[in-house]
Amino acid sequence: MAASMKADEAVSTLYHWAGGPQRGLSARFSDVTDPATGEVTARVPLASEEEAAAVIATAKAAFPDWRDTSLAKRTRILFAFRELLNARAGELAAIITAEHGKVLSDAAGEVARGQEVVEFACGIAHLIKGSATENASTNVDVHSIRQPLGVVGIISPFNFPAMVPMWFFPVAIAAGNTVVLKPSEKVPTAALWIAELWREAGLPDGVFNVLNGDKTAVDALLTHPDVKSVSFVGSTPIAKYVYETGTANGKRVQALGGAKNHMVVLPDADLDLAADQAVNAGFGSAGERCMAISTLVAVGDIADVLVGKIADRAKALRTGDGRRSCDMGPLVTMAAKERVTGYVDAGEAAGANLVVDGRTGDFDADGKGFFVGPTLFDHVTTDMSIYTDEIFGPVLSVVRVDTYEQAVELINSNPYGNGTAIFTNDGGAARKFQNEVEVGMIGVNVPVPVPMAYYSFGGWKNSLFGDTHAHGTDGVHFFTRGKVVTTRWLDPSHGGINLGFPQNA
Ligand code: NAD
Repeated sequence: MAASMKADEAVSTLYHWAGGPQRGLSARFSDVTDPATGEVTARVPLASEEEAAAVIATAKAAFPDWRDTSLAKRTRILFAFRELLNARAGELAAIITAEHGKVLSDAAGEVARGQEVVEFACGIAHLIKGSATENASTNVDVHSIRQPLGVVGIISPFNFPAMVPMWFFPVAIAAGNTVVLKPSEKVPTAALWIAELWREAGLPDGVFNVLNGDKTAVDALLTHPDVKSVSFVGSTPIAKYVYETGTANGKRVQALGGAKNHMVVLPDADLDLAADQAVNAGFGSAGERCMAISTLVAVGDIADVLVGKIADRAKALRTGDGRRSCDMGPLVTMAAKERVTGYVDAGEAAGANLVVDGRTGDFDADGKGFFVGPTLFDHVTTDMSIYTDEIFGPVLSVVRVDTYEQAVELINSNPYGNGTAIFTNDGGAARKFQNEVEVGMIGVNVPVPVPMAYYSFGGWKNSLFGDTHAHGTDGVHFFTRGKVVTTRWLDPSHGGINLGFPQNA
């Protein structure tokens, strides 16, 4: 079904941002919709290769001055950005809700988690410090420094229009790089709003740029010789493509992919706590989180009771327009809704027990929004597509196993390794789990274990291509490269000629 046009006001035409707003010249556009009403609210330009090159050139031109701007001045701008974002976080949250659909409180939470990375990056003077050694050899000193890369590309997904770009650009900018951000064409307005906020904070033009587009813009970032690194977040097939193409073109690449996150509940767990958290992690943001729990692994004989508790809670959730007091909003597009309901059909046909069916419901919204209510399957087996595939919707599958070992085996044989959680009151079991499970981010009685900004975010296996995670120490390393300087200030005595390999003396 095609989305309807917004009736009461003109549909706005968006732009790129490179030293200020830049009109799209390619004559290619993509519709942006309000998922709660189904209306088209804007048209976003899709850049041509030439337009991408022009934005990259703007970022390149800004680099020499920005890399030589003192840490004190850079940090002052970061602090100003933080203050402005604090004061105006509600505006950004409203933009996110209007284009992504998540409820306002969830959108505000996303902004707050992104803001934590800005606060982390405010400490860049400490984070970027090198080390120094006196008298490494006689009269020889050594010190290390870290320098920015140049123009860095960031390509982000639709599900966190503000937070995911903010995993990267605060650290990149603080470290002295200039940025070209290509946001998802489904949710482009947050990035443009952020560009204006940077200008207001005093960031020189050309340091933060927004290139709107699709595969053409992505390919330009992956192949242009002036782009030194690419940070990508999105689905696994595209992440793999981005990693392979970017590295083949000599770039540093971190490409974060999709997920299939399991939550293990052991028989000794507090089942009310586990049911609450399964609902929060399975249905929050309509399941459109890379750290959402999509599979609950019930160990032993607790499954009947636990499924009952989750079903009661799921049925009580209110789904509707995220600007109203609902618990859960719509999916991002009609295509996403159709994809998710297709998986529900497939799960039912494959013989899973559909305990709560979200395909129809009483949704609190006007218009033709893209709603699917909370959906719960029990008795799911590992050959079903609702288990094997990343659905990216409010569909929680319960898999029953007899033992802890079977639960771990299930997780470790899954091709994804983004997040996982265990619910138990047994510290020994939790410790064993964190030691042997092959996943990048682990929660113990915490269902969505997104690390704080001063740790690094990233999964294992098909959930991340590259070896560097986002923000924290990994982020600082990704956006800088090291140099080691060996120095001798001559003591007037002369060392003499020696063609041998330098050795310490
Ligand atoms: P997506 O892969 O469709 O799009 C991501 C980005 O790639 C967008 O900017 C998009 O314009 C671009 N893109 C789309 N098709 C492309 C193509 N053929 N060639 C080049 N670029 C292309 O992902 P999405 O639907 O926007 O986001 C949801 C996915 O992102 C899920 O798989 C989710 O798990 C994943 N995700 C992962 C993390 C993580 O931290 N691992 C975080 C958030 C989202």
